[in-house]
Amino acid sequence: MTAMEPQQEELTYCALHPRRETALRCNRCERTMCHECAVHTPVGYRCRECVKEQDRQFFDARLTDELLIVLVCALVAAVGMVVLTFFRFLLFALLLAVILGPFAGECARRVTGRRRSQRAALAAGVGALLGTLVVGLLWQGLTLSALLFAALYASFASGRLRWGR
Ligand SMILES: [Zn+2]
Ligand SMILES: [Zn+2]
Repeated sequence: MTAMEPQQEELTYCALHPRRETALRCNRCERTMCHECAVHTPVGYRCRECVKEQDRQFFDARLTDELLIVLVCALVAAVGMVVLTFFRFLLFALLLAVILGPFAGECARRVTGRRRSQRAALAAGVGALLGTLVVGLLWQGLTLSALLFAALYASFASGRLRWGR
């Protein structure tokens, strides 16, 4: 017997990178993972598979929800653009964006039943762009205040639609 040799600790390796030694385990499925594979979440280190699975459960929106967000944000943006034609100065465009942006975001949240989408912010941006472009190009022209309104409005609307985990 070779009892003289010190007992070697069992080495574990990353499940995806068999050559990387690691002691880290996913706290959900227990698989071993190296630092590159681990994702730091509020509930500890998890593997990418488990994080993806969590996301699937967390982001429960359907495609129709995303289309609704585009629609709502486009409509409100269009209304804003029409209002802008009567008050063509920059400060008013700023003010209007600050009011209508969060308003559109909130409306979109409600009509989609507050379901969460990873692409909600993007959908809001697309809607803002659509509404602004349609009214801007067809009717009042894309003035500086219209562009400013569009940019601010989009960022406020999408801000409302970001979901923290
Ligand atoms: Zn896992
Ligand atoms: Zn790895």
